[in-house]
Amino acid sequence: MSHQRTLQRVVTCEGIGLHTGRPVTMALRPAPSNSGVVFKRIDLPFASTIEATPAHVVDVNHATTIGKDGVTVRTIEHLMAAFVGIGLDNVMVELDAEEVPAMDGSAAPFVELIRQAGLKRQMATRTFLKIKERVVIETERSSIQIVPSKRLQVIYTMRFDHPALGDQSVAFDITRERFAEEIASCRTYGFLKDVEELRRRNLGLGGSFDNAIVIGDGGVLNGDLRFRDELVRHKVLDLLGDLYLLGRPVVGTIIAHGAGHYLHARLAREIQRRLELELPASVSGDVIERWARPLLQPERSLEVAPS
Ligand SMILES: [Zn+2]
Repeated sequence: MSHQRTLQRVVTCEGIGLHTGRPVTMALRPAPSNSGVVFKRIDLPFASTIEATPAHVVDVNHATTIGKDGVTVRTIEHLMAAFVGIGLDNVMVELDAEEVPAMDGSAAPFVELIRQAGLKRQMATRTFLKIKERVVIETERSSIQIVPSKRLQVIYTMRFDHPALGDQSVAFDITRERFAEEIASCRTYGFLKDVEELRRRNLGLGGSFDNAIVIGDGGVLNGDLRFRDELVRHKVLDLLGDLYLLGRPVVGTIIAHGAGHYLHARLAREIQRRLELELPASVSGDVIERWARPLLQPERSLEVAPS
């Protein structure tokens, strides 16, 4: 049987927001079973809380922003990826500003922070969201689909309109180990030619050589990549974080072409919509293979049925 997990103790870190450029202190706190990931803005008078769910996504422009009752938290995706990648179900994220700290632009510092806190087993059983029917979301130039499979797999392709980058494609069986070793440390990226336009729109104000791969006309401007295909691996990281808005690890094969937060969020919302139509979702005893090891051994799965 697989149990839910929370943190053993409170941990904190400081940084600046990638888009706001503002300093922020973040605390990760233990939380009760079945509470999921909840964000709390402690800089506001009423300490508003926002549950991480697909319905709370309010903006997907260059980052995933959630909001409720007019209060928002920006750029949650790398932190969410660390949570799902390491197998953390219930956590309260306290922030004293609007945006999660950028750290080095990847999920690795968050993984390390969670490891410092330690994981504590809780009484409640963990459930998985096992996809039963194909779900496809398409735009003119990009697409994402999820199809049933016995474990979580991601195939992600990006076509970069840049001579030094070209096409990049990866295929992963997502396991906890592979997440930690091959995905978590992959950093966000930006093109130098876009910086002015981003800043005009009040985005990327905290971006620097320290928290993003910066790409100029001739290629990467700030040192070596951590992986030859680090950019598309980062897209996988974003996808895992965005899909964790569903509150449970998803089991299915995801195939994405040229996607981003917009399509990730639409996929999450569509899966949620189908779940809600079919509730109460059936519970199965499927053995979910690699995604399950070693911390994530499922006993039950919620199934997504066709609408
Ligand atoms: Zn990202």
